Amino acid sequence: MRAVVWHGPDQVRVDERPEPTLEQPDDAILRVTTSAICGSDLHLVRGRLPRVRPGTVIGHEFCGEVVAVGEGVRRHRPGDRAVAAMHTACGRCPSCLAGQHARCPDYAMFGCGELFGDLDGGQAELVRVPLADMTLAPIPSGLDDADALFVGDILATAYTACVDAGIAPGETAAVVGCGPVGQLLVECLQLFAPAAVFAIDPVAERLAQAAGRGAVPLPAGDDPRAALRALNRGRRADCVLEAVGSAGGLETAWRLVETGGRVVLVGLLVDEPFPESAGQTWLRALTVRPVLGRPYAHRDTLLRLIQQGRLHPAGVVSETVPLADAPDAYRRLQARLTTKVLLRP
Ligand SMILES: [Zn+2]
Ligand SMILES: [Zn+2]
Repeated sequence: MRAVVWHGPDQVRVDERPEPTLEQPDDAILRVTTSAICGSDLHLVRGRLPRVRPGTVIGHEFCGEVVAVGEGVRRHRPGDRAVAAMHTACGRCPSCLAGQHARCPDYAMFGCGELFGDLDGGQAELVRVPLADMTLAPIPSGLDDADALFVGDILATAYTACVDAGIAPGETAAVVGCGPVGQLLVECLQLFAPAAVFAIDPVAERLAQAAGRGAVPLPAGDDPRAALRALNRGRRADCVLEAVGSAGGLETAWRLVETGGRVVLVGLLVDEPFPESAGQTWLRALTVRPVLGRPYAHRDTLLRLIQQGRLHPAGVVSETVPLADAPDAYRRLQARLTTKVLLRP
């Protein structure tokens, strides 16, 4: 089978690999019909994630058709369509029962290297899915791959961020960075009845897309804080959601948040410093909340919202290309020539 394989910093190739087989009774083998390139895959490809072994198959957003199941799998049968969560979890341990599936002892992230469980990813023709009854969710009939795919990662991340931010009706929110996650944040925030959602991004086209999803665009300029105050009766935002994962994004988030407000860290951060001292954050009484998406907690809700037409995650897809074109897609993503690429084996 063919798979997208990481060979070292900025070295991605499509290789021929042995087909995965059932290793445990609760495994399933999924024939991938669609996978996506996630923003965090770009960090991996650049070599910014620790302990990724050359030869790792990339990819943690994927869906497809079940082709084989171990004898312990109850919920899925060959021929079923299913979408994977970005990481495995047992569903039975105290962490899972408390809704903290990322703390499960059986946690393993697909396609992210040894530090995250050393599990091959889904940018491939076939993928082994451990703990399949938990990891895979059936795709409701009527939903295309592109509709359902993101409940395993970026849509779950955006929705988790809104839940964890505790957005109350009538509050104002600002989204820093209007890439795919930023766009989905804008969509999800509308479900929480805010007074306004502001959006900021240096790329005019992304800002226009956010406006199309109901955000008030903040003009890119030297002073986003002044721009926000001018549009928000002199106030900054009650809650700012940072969806870039960069030092610049953090700085903007800290400038846009009102005294006593919340900063929600959604973008993947590696070693970026905080933009102000602990003392300043204390004086301003800010709450800083890092967010890790919880697909297991929210995917059923999200699939229902998509079916009801209240969320349109497929709208963030910029292009769909054959799996063989993955290396070129990575290059164009790094060069910011495209935003959300789907791969079709
Ligand atoms: Zn991801
Ligand atoms: Zn568990």
